[in-house]
Amino acid sequence: MNQFTFKTDTPEQTLEFAEKLGSLLQPKDLITLEGDLGAGKTTFTKGLAKGLGITRTVSSPTFTIIKEYKGRLPLYHMDVYRVEDSFEDLGFDEYFEGDGVTVVEWAKLIEEQLPKDRLEIKLFHEGDLNRRIELEPIGKRYIDVCEEIFSK
Ligand code: ADP
Ligand code: MG
Repeated sequence: MNQFTFKTDTPEQTLEFAEKLGSLLQPKDLITLEGDLGAGKTTFTKGLAKGLGITRTVSSPTFTIIKEYKGRLPLYHMDVYRVEDSFEDLGFDEYFEGDGVTVVEWAKLIEEQLPKDRLEIKLFHEGDLNRRIELEPIGKRYIDVCEEIFSK
């Protein structure tokens, strides 16, 4: 199993790491984010958005499920926490097959609808400002991305 770990001690470090990931992404890339409330999923997405050249402020899409931002590539930011039925199809495929990058918070809740290949990211709350970020790439594309981030 391929697994990469990054430890962060401040929100800024998380933003910076996520920005680096964002700058390496390509159309149709899929990132899933897991972690308890307050673990830093939305913070991570903000950094990633910056790396995609998005200047608008990214906020949690909790009440809308999906928000779209324009940048070097579009970002489709989903928070599926409030999806009641894991098979409920809200047109996710159109995003996965679109020209942008998709980030899904609480992705496990719609696991059945997710493409197999993706970069699974888990955030663990280890202290006030400490987080452990685990990246598990599934598929060659995402293994390459992780190797690139961690080679520098
Ligand atoms: P989630 O989307 O997982 O519920 P948020 O990103 O909305 O989490 O909230 C994370 C909170 O934790 C923010 O208030 C953020 O400032 C804070 N925080 C503290 N330390 C960190 C860190 N190292 N990385 C990310 N967020 C952190
Ligand atoms: Mg969130």
